[in-house]
Amino acid sequence: MTPGLIIETADFVAALLFILGLKRMSSPVTARSGIVVAGWGVLVATLASFLYVFGVDPAAQPNLAVNLGLGIAALGIGVAWAWVTGEKVPLTAMPQMVAIYNGMGGGAAGCIAAVELSGNGAMPMGQMIPAIVGAVIGAVSFSGSLIAWAKLDGKINKTIRLPGQQAINSLLFAAIVGLGVYMLVATGGQSPPALTSIFFGAALALGVLVTLPIGGADMPVVISLYNACTGLAVAIEGYVLDKPVLVIAGVVVGAAGTLLTLLMARAMNRSVANVLFSRFGETGTAGAGEIQGSMKPVEAGDAAISMRYAGKVLIIPGYGLAVAQAQYKLYEFVKLLQAAGVEVAFAIHPVAGRMPGHMDVLLAEAGVPYDLMKELDEVNDEFRSTDVALVIGANDVVNPAARTDKSSPIYGMPILNADHAHQVYVIKRGQGKGYSGVENELFYADNCNMVYGDAQAVLVKFIAAIKELGAAA
Ligand code: NDP
Repeated sequence: MTPGLIIETADFVAALLFILGLKRMSSPVTARSGIVVAGWGVLVATLASFLYVFGVDPAAQPNLAVNLGLGIAALGIGVAWAWVTGEKVPLTAMPQMVAIYNGMGGGAAGCIAAVELSGNGAMPMGQMIPAIVGAVIGAVSFSGSLIAWAKLDGKINKTIRLPGQQAINSLLFAAIVGLGVYMLVATGGQSPPALTSIFFGAALALGVLVTLPIGGADMPVVISLYNACTGLAVAIEGYVLDKPVLVIAGVVVGAAGTLLTLLMARAMNRSVANVLFSRFGETGTAGAGEIQGSMKPVEAGDAAISMRYAGKVLIIPGYGLAVAQAQYKLYEFVKLLQAAGVEVAFAIHPVAGRMPGHMDVLLAEAGVPYDLMKELDEVNDEFRSTDVALVIGANDVVNPAARTDKSSPIYGMPILNADHAHQVYVIKRGQGKGYSGVENELFYADNCNMVYGDAQAVLVKFIAAIKELGAAA
């Protein structure tokens, strides 16, 4: 078997593994194995790339030993860094980790384009146009993802908006297009280093300027969008390099990123343009006018005991559960209820928390079986026959204003019908609003009581109350 045939076979196998891996990621039950399968695909593709670069025609490479050493060192550093950070990262920091890895993908596509555009040989137009387009998308995704990472990680706490921001961005974009056209007609694929640097500098600056004004809470949608862009850039550069495996990997990432972006935007009832250009949730003034009634606190022990004697309890987890890291205590409480004969299930909203699947992963981490986790469409009609809806650190995803208040920023967002349950208990620390910044009329409803406190601390009290009851019986 020649090295060329080995590479082609390996590329084909890698592409199959990517597609199979993605397919398995579509269900929480098989997602973990999907990640492993796709990981094998990446390994096969990486080894094939090494063979492509260093093994096909070693005689044509004067600095083979040095280049091979550098390649292996880069691979070693990358693997070690990813291994250590992957082991350490808490679940709440997962969006920023995705952001930084995505940025690396965009950066890699940009680097390939830089080499192609300032390379040694002349390039035909049919190759240069995609190389330039891929360069811009890759560079914007790289710098934009780094800003998204910095915002999510608390490294940048402010939303920075320059005066005339849109005009500046438009001018910069026009300059990039102008430079790209100049490179296309005047350099023929042998762009001088100074011109290449200015071109990439402008594209990197655009990524920074587009991302800086977007609110930190919108970053998950932005990351998903950049993920789609990175996939597109990789696919385009795969076409330029004539590497089908890159095209397939890029298309798979691009399509998945696009669908995820649209799904998140739809579940929030917002357009992608609204996420990119409006300051949702920062003012907290829109919608939800005067709410009648008052919030009625209840003791944790009383709430726990009423759930112990309920027939059916539906639990709605939200962002606050992740903040409190209370998933283990929650499942301990659920098992006590189940042991007492109570039917318990989790109602999961598609955008509860701060990334899609956040709650599923959080609960799975504590050992909650997937068959207890029900999706919005599946569970929403069950609330009317539910004795207690227990809302833990969730807010927007149960706000009835989304159904009724046309002036509310969350109007039209599908919500979990917690208010239809006979009794609602809400665990939260105080009067804090949700991510959208609007009041929640559910908290003022006659059938709702507030259990104030950190989710973890409240659940400890719930567990103690049930155990005390058991001991006394
Ligand atoms: P929200 O952000 O609406 O509300 C979270 C609530 O948790 C707050 O009201 C807060 O109240 C409470 N809380 C915070 N910390 C704690 C704690 N330690 N213990 C108890 N309670 C706590 O969360 P939801 O999950 O309901 O909604 C998610 C929101 O995020 C939606 O608006 C969605 O559109 C948005 N979003 C989701 C994305 C996704 O992909 N999942 C992506 C981008 C945005 P208090 O301060 O009083 O405790």
